[in-house]
Amino acid sequence: MVKKRAIRIITEILDLKDVKVLSQRLHNEIGIIFQTESIKSYSVCPNCGTKSEKLHQNHRHIVSQLAVSVSVPPN
Ligand SMILES: [Zn+2]
Repeated sequence: MVKKRAIRIITEILDLKDVKVLSQRLHNEIGIIFQTESIKSYSVCPNCGTKSEKLHQNHRHIVSQLAVSVSVPPN
């Protein structure tokens, strides 16, 4: 499936630790919005180190610049 493959490639290009892209959509004059989720089934609190498997919050992050480099092999 082309869409599934595209999503996998976007996940590889973004290369965010333990994050996979679920969907992407281009919005005029805003940019590309990705829906993502953690690959891990748990998270560790950055303050106290407690491990949790429950979802406490959903966050929206604005990433204005990504250092992305794509090389295309010659045919
Ligand atoms: Zn904590």
